[in-house]
Amino acid sequence: MFAVGLTGGIGSGKSTVADLFAARGVPIVDTDVIAHRITGPQGQAMPAIAAKLGVQFVAPDGSLDRAAMRAQVFSDETARKRLEAITHPLIRAEAAREQQTAQGPYVLVVVPLLVESGNWHTWVDRVLVVDCNEETQIIRVQRRNGFTRDQVKAIITRQASRAERLNAADDVLLNEDATAATLALRVETLHQHYLLLAGGPSAD
Ligand code: ADP
Repeated sequence: MFAVGLTGGIGSGKSTVADLFAARGVPIVDTDVIAHRITGPQGQAMPAIAAKLGVQFVAPDGSLDRAAMRAQVFSDETARKRLEAITHPLIRAEAAREQQTAQGPYVLVVVPLLVESGNWHTWVDRVLVVDCNEETQIIRVQRRNGFTRDQVKAIITRQASRAERLNAADDVLLNEDATAATLALRVETLHQHYLLLAGGPSAD
């Protein structure tokens, strides 16, 4: 099925935009949801995490101890790489499975780190970037998560830059000073475009 990869920096509005596509009957594959599931109790990634990173990262209920892992990968690049070597192929396989069983005109695959993590773009037919400026990201995430300005900035610094993301985009959805109605209109325009494209040849 024709697949659109949706990405953007933290707070750019990915979830908001994905909801607007979902409201138009587009099935959503969300790699964050998959990542959470495979690291939940009895999650597919958990045996390898326990074996390769250590049982200290496994919470009593068998899920990933997220706080312990976050603290570790923050300062330990090798641990981060090891974790990703376990989770990324599983996330990719699960996303592919969901993509194949999805019912709809085309599928929207939400991949927050699409630009950062290797060859995701080869698994989707088109990349849609939700874009806004950094100040807007900071204000939104401070409001949404109760983070400090510096905490949000630290996350933004670890992500791809705005320019890198825009460089990877086939389509850009500007989500700056956009009212709900304006955003819905922008999504509708893209949706009509994707319906047309989905009628043509696909990467499958
Ligand atoms: P992401 O999934 O990219 O992290 P979200 O969709 O969760 O971003 O949006 C971040 C926050 O900003 C949310 O609280 C959301 O409600 C808010 N938000 C998103 N777009 C807008 C907008 N155009 N105007 C005002 N608030 C917005």
